[in-house]
Amino acid sequence: MAEQGLGTKCVQAGYRPGNGEPRQVPIIQSTTFKYATSEDMGKLFDLEANGYFYTRLQNPTNDHVAAKLAALEGGTAGMLTSSGQAANFFAVFNLASCGDHVVSASSIYGGTYNLFAVTMKRMGIDFTFVSPDCTEEELNAAFRPNTKAVFGETIANPALTVLDIERFARAAHAHGVPLIVDNTFATPVNCRPIEWGCDIVTHSTTKYVDGHGVSVGGAIVDSGKFDWTEHAEKFPGLCTPDESYHGVTYTERFGLEGAFITKATAQLMRDFGAIQSPQNAFYLNLGLESLHVRMPRHCANGQALAEFLQSHPNVSWVTYPGLPGDRYYELAQKYLPKGSCGVVSFGVKGGRAAAERFMAKLKVFAIETHVADARSCCLHPASATHRQMSDAELAAAGVGADLVRMSCGLEDSADLIADVAQALE
Ligand SMILES: *Cc1c(COP(=O)(O)O)cnc(C)c1O
Repeated sequence: MAEQGLGTKCVQAGYRPGNGEPRQVPIIQSTTFKYATSEDMGKLFDLEANGYFYTRLQNPTNDHVAAKLAALEGGTAGMLTSSGQAANFFAVFNLASCGDHVVSASSIYGGTYNLFAVTMKRMGIDFTFVSPDCTEEELNAAFRPNTKAVFGETIANPALTVLDIERFARAAHAHGVPLIVDNTFATPVNCRPIEWGCDIVTHSTTKYVDGHGVSVGGAIVDSGKFDWTEHAEKFPGLCTPDESYHGVTYTERFGLEGAFITKATAQLMRDFGAIQSPQNAFYLNLGLESLHVRMPRHCANGQALAEFLQSHPNVSWVTYPGLPGDRYYELAQKYLPKGSCGVVSFGVKGGRAAAERFMAKLKVFAIETHVADARSCCLHPASATHRQMSDAELAAAGVGADLVRMSCGLEDSADLIADVAQALE
């Protein structure tokens, strides 16, 4: 049978019920699983048999939904985590330990920046941040002998920069390390980073994948393409025996297609326990069932709003990758031909005070610290997430006092534009 389309995978991949079994992915709300003999269970602990023993490591509901995301991204294995933060932490920490180094694009989600630059730094892992627009020389100069991975976001939140995935993958591979791409804003409906050379995809499923503002969650998908054994000296955790798992060598036992995710599950999930609840995985699956129908609407609403704002006299600038003339328009045409996302950033003429007045007048857009929801929402970072910063500090962070971030939901675009129009008066 030919490979199924993305829409069919959104609806059906990852779970195939047998005769008389539930049509919908069942919620296995159980912490533990029963076995007839201790020997049966011992085989699971030794990773010699497949199965479930404790939901902190694996749960059937989660595995069905992770398998769907892996199918959508074109990967060989996937896992769910309790949040996007946990997904990015696991993806990097599965490769880098104390004394190691990672190259990351500088325009990434603030929470990820903090995780890397502050918290993982305290664990002894160093990060070099490079502009997504850096030259080839600058990119290559960022690598060190102890570099273990490269990280970036397909569409950065909230900067809306578009990563040149092929270029970053080429540089990563030339230095013998994988490229990890956070695909939260694009979703596999609009971009499949693995097709462009990315090795590991991460998600904050809290955003479009859930899409209804229901549950915080994350996911990791491995392409199965990166050959750890070719660079075994860089990745001893994958290529030498794990004494905490009876001497299993992940690449030998699980092959390139399973080594990365099995190690992340067996070590990191076991020890950190950032598991997604089966109930949340069920909600996530409901979101996935309509992702391919929802994304085009988010994009159409984002595009319409961006075009409206661009020609409005009270707007000083607009950032949206789908807008001709946008700094990332060409890269978006290449990597995101079906559309980018529903998030649009713009500047209100008159700065901080005008932006605050604008926000207060909105009726359809709600003020929230959230994006990528069915309901349109917006944020003025200078008076919310970044309120401790002075105007000078804001400018240095690339978040001007006039910046408003609008996340277009699934409502009628005419109503969204009318709301923004009256608030800009
Ligand atoms: C929100 C977000 C995260 C963090 O995800 P949580 O689910 O909130 O932990 C990571 N990356 C990107 C691009 C995000 O937008």
